[in-house]
Amino acid sequence: MTTGRRIDLRSDTVTQPDEKMRVAMSAAEVGDDVLDHDPTMRRLEEETAARLGMAAALWVPSGTMGNLIALFLHLRRGDRFLASAAAHVLEAELGSAAWLAGGMPHALPWTEGPGRVSVEDVRAFAGNSAPYYALTTRLLCLENTHNFAGGTVTPPDEHAKLVSAASEANLLVHLDGARLWNASVALGVPPAALTVGVDTVQVCLSKGLGAPVGSLVAGSKAFVTEARRVRKMLGGGVRQGGVLAAAGLLALERIEDLAQDHVNATTLALGLAELGWQVVRPQTNIVIAAVPDTGAALQSLDRVGVLATAVPGGVRFVTHRDVPAHDIAEALRRVTAASDPVPAA
Ligand SMILES: *Cc1c(COP(=O)(O)O)cnc(C)c1O
Repeated sequence: MTTGRRIDLRSDTVTQPDEKMRVAMSAAEVGDDVLDHDPTMRRLEEETAARLGMAAALWVPSGTMGNLIALFLHLRRGDRFLASAAAHVLEAELGSAAWLAGGMPHALPWTEGPGRVSVEDVRAFAGNSAPYYALTTRLLCLENTHNFAGGTVTPPDEHAKLVSAASEANLLVHLDGARLWNASVALGVPPAALTVGVDTVQVCLSKGLGAPVGSLVAGSKAFVTEARRVRKMLGGGVRQGGVLAAAGLLALERIEDLAQDHVNATTLALGLAELGWQVVRPQTNIVIAAVPDTGAALQSLDRVGVLATAVPGGVRFVTHRDVPAHDIAEALRRVTAASDPVPAA
């Protein structure tokens, strides 16, 4: 079967900077950000902090570094942190939260639905009244949307309850908001409505918003002053970063476009369900289908030029701005024509 172009649904990170973004990058006003701040970096940091309702923000090369810097400053050796099971900080950052930031992770179950932890579980694991040789639970790490749960959203009221349970238990709160923009668009609330009460938050510009590089970690002014030092320590200070920040500023103007990715994900999920695939209706731009043999399913998809990735027990499709609606339709035609994979019910 001829498949033509590959339809790449492995991740929204495959999005490429378009012509407009490349033009903005080439025209960026720049300075030495490590010496005394690049002007375009400064604009991006101020603009992002404002959108997140935080006092200040710091650009970092990756979301992983943003999470690491936050956890590094929040945790000490002998501390424990709580995170939703299969959180990115637990599964996809090579354990740096433990070996660099020094925190012992504890995964909380998805009591409130896929990716969502309960107030009761936060309270149950937050206690510090233990003997001296017990871990001190220091931090709750939330993730919105939750990547490996299938881009699931935590709404503002549930977020607020978790944050107040954490603060009653003297826990700091870090929000891994790599796709916070998707949550905000799906819920129809500003991003700042989803950061209420957190100490720090990390957001990505290099996923569905289409920037080639960049995340920001936001918090208090004092946090960002310290975060700048840790970023340098990790080798994450960049010089004329304005070239990258210019892409980020344009990315921030594209948040509303994510609504189309969500529509496309729903179309894809409904189409796959019609073909007999086991999928749940997505809340944002991530579709997870349960399959009996992940390797075989990915291979059959690859044969018809549809790229996806493996998750435990299934395959993951991520919609994004470089795969328009007509390509989603084409992907469904290809999967139909392939007849294989037909996952068992
Ligand atoms: C992508 C992602 C990150 C950070 O990823 P980088 O590739 O390091 O930018 C962090 N958390 C979640 C939930 C993510 O999906």
